[in-house]
Amino acid sequence: MQKTIGYAAHNSNSPLVAFSFERRDPLPTDVRIEILFCGVCHSDIHQVRNEWSNSAFPMVPGHEIIGKVTKVGSEVNKFKPGDTVGVGCMVDSCRECPDCRDNLEQFCNNAVFTYNSPDKHSGGSNYGGYSGQIVVNQDFVLHVSDKLDPAAAAPLLCAGITTYSPLKHWKIGKGDKVGIVGLGGLGHMGIKFARAFGAHVVLFTTSPDKTEDAKRLGADEVVISRNPGQMQQHLGSFDFILNTVAAPHNLDIYTELLKHDGTLCLVGLPDQPHPSPSVGNLIMKRRSIAGSLIGGIKETQEMLDFCAEHNIVSDIEIIPIQQINEAYERVLKSDVKYRFVIDSASLKQTKD
Ligand code: NAP
Ligand code: ZN
Ligand code: ZN
Repeated sequence: MQKTIGYAAHNSNSPLVAFSFERRDPLPTDVRIEILFCGVCHSDIHQVRNEWSNSAFPMVPGHEIIGKVTKVGSEVNKFKPGDTVGVGCMVDSCRECPDCRDNLEQFCNNAVFTYNSPDKHSGGSNYGGYSGQIVVNQDFVLHVSDKLDPAAAAPLLCAGITTYSPLKHWKIGKGDKVGIVGLGGLGHMGIKFARAFGAHVVLFTTSPDKTEDAKRLGADEVVISRNPGQMQQHLGSFDFILNTVAAPHNLDIYTELLKHDGTLCLVGLPDQPHPSPSVGNLIMKRRSIAGSLIGGIKETQEMLDFCAEHNIVSDIEIIPIQQINEAYERVLKSDVKYRFVIDSASLKQTKD
């Protein structure tokens, strides 16, 4: 066992604080990773505050992990010490069910998420990336090209794959008109990927002051979603809209913007339900409302390789772990540009 320093929430309404715990020694198929950077996802906040009613404490959040391999088990054949690697939202699955066989481990009923998930090794809940090191089965570790800035690559492990996967699944490409709702961690990656796939990209935002940034990130047009006049100009014109908003809101203002057979895909997972959407809007033009959850390991590797080839990373603000509680407050105010990333070296200044 190795003593590890992290930051943990001990209940749903107090700040994260320094926390010491043990990581297992690598099993034959495990990789030990020294964590260099970890992104801060809105899902971390939902879980720390028990907004999905499934939180186990103490909780060490973090599932956008970049690090260096420091040790490998005797049967590891995919990695060696010194490799730059990533770990995203999952660390294991059953490997046998139809979802796993289709490379969609994220849908496996026995998927083990990176934190706040039952850990069969310790018997308790597992701990995530707001920590100095992690031990993961090699099948859930990703290769990360040294061409990519490691801090800015960290958010690819969740925000990246969560936006890449639905754009691929719905075959977005040249000639498609695509909407991205919300310019936060997921939204800014959605703009970058939709643009890279050749689509005409429209950002919907509640923050008019993000307009210039959205265009710099790759949006062709920016619409203020609280301005009905601006919304009306786009009625019935979208092939696909990816909605990343983390709060309940009226979905009808987006379904009516879809063309016939268009899809509104939800990836934001608010703590309360959205108001019930209009069935009429769906029936009239055979439109769909769908959802999507991260992506499988094979597709996550494909996304990371695509990013290395096209030089795509996240726009980030690096913080020491000691600023994590202030960072959460800024995310909740939609004041993040466009992902906070923890510099794990700051953990060394922490006294447990
Ligand atoms: P984020 O950085 O906080 O971005 C969310 C953005 O939504 C905000 O920046 C804001 O953009 C907009 N927004 C916030 N409140 C709003 C409101 N009341 N009405 C309209 N727009 C609002 O969050 P994130 O990390 O991108 O995550 C977004 C959501 O996706 C969270 O619920 C998270 O749990 C979920 N998630 C899902 C998956 C998945 O696999 N499905 C994976 C990761 C995260 P503007 O200022 O531009 O309006
Ligand atoms: Zn996430
Ligand atoms: Zn499975």
